[in-house]
Amino acid sequence: MNARERRAAAWSGLSSAWDVIVVGGGITGAGVAREAARHGLSTLLVDRGDFASGTSSRSSKLVHGGLRYLAEGNVRLTWESVRERDRLLAEGPGLVEPIGFLLPTYRGQRPGRAAYGAGLLAYHLMGSGARHRRLSPADLAPMAPHVLEEGLTGGYWYRDSQTDDARLVLRVLDEAVLAGATVLNHVDAEALVLASGAVSGLVVRDTVGGTARRLRARAVVNAAGAAADRLRAAVGGGTLIRPLRGSHLVFPAWRFPVAQAVSFRHPGDGRPLFAFPWEGTTLLGTTDLDHDGPLDEEPAISPAEADYLLAGARGAFPALSLAAADAIASFAGVRPVVGTGKADPSRESRDQVLLDEKGLLTVTGGKLTTFRRSALAALVALRARLRRPARIDFALAALETAAPVPAGTRGLPAADARRLSGRYGARAPRLVEGARADELRRIPGTPYLWAELRWAARNEGAVHLDDLLLRRLRLGLLLPEGGAELLPLVRAAACAELGWDNRDWEMEEERYRALIRAKYGVPRPAAPAGRGDDPGDVRSDVRGDVRGGEPGGERACA
Ligand SMILES: Cc1cc2nc3c(=O)[nH]c(=O)nc-3n(C[C@H](O)[C@H](O)[C@H](O)COP(=O)(O)OP(=O)(O)OC[C@H]3O[C@@H](n4cnc5c(N)ncnc54)[C@H](O)[C@@H]3O)c2cc1C
Repeated sequence: MNARERRAAAWSGLSSAWDVIVVGGGITGAGVAREAARHGLSTLLVDRGDFASGTSSRSSKLVHGGLRYLAEGNVRLTWESVRERDRLLAEGPGLVEPIGFLLPTYRGQRPGRAAYGAGLLAYHLMGSGARHRRLSPADLAPMAPHVLEEGLTGGYWYRDSQTDDARLVLRVLDEAVLAGATVLNHVDAEALVLASGAVSGLVVRDTVGGTARRLRARAVVNAAGAAADRLRAAVGGGTLIRPLRGSHLVFPAWRFPVAQAVSFRHPGDGRPLFAFPWEGTTLLGTTDLDHDGPLDEEPAISPAEADYLLAGARGAFPALSLAAADAIASFAGVRPVVGTGKADPSRESRDQVLLDEKGLLTVTGGKLTTFRRSALAALVALRARLRRPARIDFALAALETAAPVPAGTRGLPAADARRLSGRYGARAPRLVEGARADELRRIPGTPYLWAELRWAARNEGAVHLDDLLLRRLRLGLLLPEGGAELLPLVRAAACAELGWDNRDWEMEEERYRALIRAKYGVPRPAAPAGRGDDPGDVRSDVRGDVRGGEPGGERACA
């Protein structure tokens, strides 16, 4: 059976009654489904898009305590986040890795050096990481060679950690499946079913095949992120979520070189921004704005956000003269923040919220870093409703230990063996053993191996090309034009594993290219009058048409 046939079989064989149905396959839903399944509850998770296609693939990818929350006086959130960071670092090598942070300080800047020092000391005391260091201008300059030198008084170095957010979700989902959960992407929770005024199930629709099913559930968990209010409306819930958009620009590392994360203040409004290395590129982020776009559409960076980020980077790294044309890609996410009407969106709390409304348990507002705590809190609420499980094990791993791939297996360098072990968990050894010899090579311009592409297509529930290239692997973010040049090579593996024929491939390629243009492009400044460019077409940076192989038809396209 290919991946498409396996998915169709899973849909048609779906049980009609569950202990728990989780709506939403981002990090929150993945965490809840895994804890529920680990504790013996029959669990189904559905996502109307792909797993992690919401905010959980669009974050800043930091597994961190959040120094900012400490500065705002939210000591508890910082403390919990630092503990979770340390746990994830210990349990997820290869997926969650340390990253150094530099904090340059300037004459006349507020908060000043003393305040940063005190905050970092408190931050350090909460966790188990390396102690922060105070830096003189002479120490800092070689560590961040392109930062603004005028007024530099030195700075600080400290350590946090980073991850691949989408792969974190996929790993937690995989652990849910290994614990007995069923997870299905591209299945929309269309409506709640109510009996005697309480939630008793869901109507779900397979958005691939178009058919709908009515399922019974003893509890429904609403982990729908920024869209959580839609389901809540059916049980009389009012507006809870204030959707806040945050966007990033992606640069080639050679054009925006930073060896570790650099945190700096925007010269216009003083907001903190940062630039940091990720998967061989440099990410620049982030904004924090009310998002008024439709929540069932992918968000995208606006031209004003791109200008704002670029102005910030030019202020902090003047020698680099960064421009929109230097960026490879952008991505935007919508924070599912619980709104309290604060004038400044950045002042809204990032704390998790749990609400039980007639049996619909909404879990939202938390961070990627604290997903395990949110999931356990949800399990406590589920136990109150279901009277099961008898006992909750609060000490279960945030990421389960699996036998790692030993360095040198099939000639793999230690760094690759570690990365594969972290990203693919218990499945990593099989991925490596089953790889074709010529697939243990790197996909050009990325840290990935061709074997990962085939593995993901075969085993990880990808339905569309963007599932494969934007979330299983992150080619769409790391390469110009979403990796268009590689599509002829991707085609063979994708078609063979996903059961696509030529026509399927061509539809998928068209869909992918359109998505990259519309949602992941880099807005360009309007051209001066008379240059002949259409100033409205700010995202049109996909050039050329890389078509591989045969014209359309019904034959298998591999
Ligand atoms: C710009 C930005 C930067 C961030 N940086 C960090 C960071 O560095 N570190 C950190 O810890 N946190 C960070 N966060 C916060 C973190 O990313 C989010 O809190 C987290 O990803 C939210 O996960 P979620 O599962 O609740 O929501 P989502 O990931 O959005 O998942 C919700 C899912 O529900 C699905 N869904 C919605 N409606 C339905 C329906 N009717 N039926 C079925 N499925 C449905 C959606 O398709 C979606 O996949 C950041 C957030 C943003 C926006």
